Amino acid sequence: MEKYKILKKYFGYDTFRYGQEELIDGILSGQDVLGIMPTGAGKSICYQVPALMMPGITIVISPLISLMKDQVRALNEAGVHAAYINSSLTEGQIEKAMYLAGQGRYKLIYVAPERLLSELFMDFLSRVQISMVTVDEAHCISQWGQDFRPSYLNIVHMIQRMQTRPVVSAFTATATEEVKNDIQCVLGLQNPRVLVTGFDRENLYFEVQSGQQKDTKILQYIKEHEKESGIVYCATRKNVEAVYELLLREGIQATRYHAGLSSEERKRNQDQFIFDEKPVMVATNAFGMGIDKSNVRYVIHYNMPQSMENYYQEAGRAGRDGGRSECILFYSPQDVRINQFLLEEKEFREELDQEEMQAVKERDALRLKLMTFYGTTRDCLRGYILNYFGEKTKRRCENCSNCLHEYQEEDVTEICQDILRCIWEARRGYGAGTIASTLHGSKSEKIRGYGLDRLKTYGCREDVTEFRLKEIISELVARKVLRSTDDKYATLGLTAEAEPILKGERKMVMKFSKPAQKKAAAPKKGKPVSQDLDSKGWKLFERLRELRLQIAKEEKVPPYIVFTDKTLVDMCVKRPKDKEEMMKVSGVGDAKYEKYGEKFLDCLKG
Ligand code: ADP
Repeated sequence: MEKYKILKKYFGYDTFRYGQEELIDGILSGQDVLGIMPTGAGKSICYQVPALMMPGITIVISPLISLMKDQVRALNEAGVHAAYINSSLTEGQIEKAMYLAGQGRYKLIYVAPERLLSELFMDFLSRVQISMVTVDEAHCISQWGQDFRPSYLNIVHMIQRMQTRPVVSAFTATATEEVKNDIQCVLGLQNPRVLVTGFDRENLYFEVQSGQQKDTKILQYIKEHEKESGIVYCATRKNVEAVYELLLREGIQATRYHAGLSSEERKRNQDQFIFDEKPVMVATNAFGMGIDKSNVRYVIHYNMPQSMENYYQEAGRAGRDGGRSECILFYSPQDVRINQFLLEEKEFREELDQEEMQAVKERDALRLKLMTFYGTTRDCLRGYILNYFGEKTKRRCENCSNCLHEYQEEDVTEICQDILRCIWEARRGYGAGTIASTLHGSKSEKIRGYGLDRLKTYGCREDVTEFRLKEIISELVARKVLRSTDDKYATLGLTAEAEPILKGERKMVMKFSKPAQKKAAAPKKGKPVSQDLDSKGWKLFERLRELRLQIAKEEKVPPYIVFTDKTLVDMCVKRPKDKEEMMKVSGVGDAKYEKYGEKFLDCLKG
């Protein structure tokens, strides 16, 4: 069967998304491939479609049990025989799965990397035809990546031991050059077709808000988005508990997730979220890996994460279905310090020597600094993210809070000169807060204790608030006029860039928020989701959702595995009356129609 027919029959889609076809064609022509695509771009289809077209079995290596389960469930729902082998099965169950696989029962087998070199598995490989080895989350093979898994190196040994080398396909959402090269070299990809799609997620709106009164702001936001599903990420368990309690007190259906809960409770809470029983999840970053929930409409960061990699990965869990979604970061300077502390406490893998450990520490500190700049920049947020991942961008996206925010420009050259003089005069390095207090003329113990009240610049900027002085200082750091140490003290020093400013040869113009700023209206980008339906459509959508939930409970699968929100919305728009029309809805394939088609047709009539 050709690839378009497979796409429609099993997955219910009519066209491939950008990049998918190229990778599929590469695989089918026998070439190794490396697909680097952002979350939600549709990487799975890139190997699942060719897996169904090749004569033998495809082995998929995946790092997480939950991810494997989800994929296998979704495939089986779509009418594809697939299985997984990992530590959640008993030895007896594994033997049975291997036996059935040997009989040719499965086209795709998902395997945990730890299992690959087991005798049972190697023996199985020698008996059957393996057409392809697919490495999901391929960045786990890179020592430079954040998620290095030594067991991923087993993949290389496994491939070497196979009698005939299968096609190798690798996929990841991590784009840095180092990781990309590592994947190619370590995995030993042969003359691979490498496809890097843009990292932009057009349907996501990005916003940074100041962390002042964030509890009130979050409450208001969640209440305004009552029917929608969202995640609130916090840095610590304590924060998770506090935000969770806050939401419960206000009657919001929320659940929570962090490493301090028992594994039963974590599982229960995760399921409640995935099954749409509790629309809001409050969690630490322990939550989310391997969660494919497609209708997350917002991701709020109550605290700033440690790196842009983390931020984009976590925020990227919004809008996997391509529908419009919002990613909001609350930025507070305290979060920088909390993260510095967490990084200091970070445990290292034993095999690292002193020098490597130092390199990792420096890299972590740099990542945190660049994350902090995201919180303070006045430039386009999307542009900042994409530049960080090495992509060039247009000047403004008009779909982030900075592009939509009104700023006024001000010439602050003289204030900058005073700041630079003060840092110069103070000699010993101080942090931004101390320098701002000194310039503003604070009478605090601390300033007097340090003798800073005797400086010439002491109190010379009584006319500017400390808040504004700190804003200017952080912009000077971002513009590399000032240097800030990476330790928790973040002490300031001048760079060579300071000289022309002090000499009056270079002007400093900066952007500041206009007072009485209105909240920027969320723009309309990305494909519509339920909120775009009219009131009749909305009622219908709710009915379809109920039916879906009922089926999901009966079948014990998450609702989005039955049909995604996008498919339900497409049903509300197309209002199919018979099988032929229903088959035109995006996401309705043969197997799903057979199972659920009539029930949904009845519901649409009723
Ligand atoms: P990734 O692994 O890249 O994060 P997934 O493979 O989970 O993304 O796909 C994300 C969503 O996009 C899924 O709901 C999937 O069914 C959908 N999808 C993938 N390919 C297509 C396509 N060609 N047309 C429509 N939807 C698609």
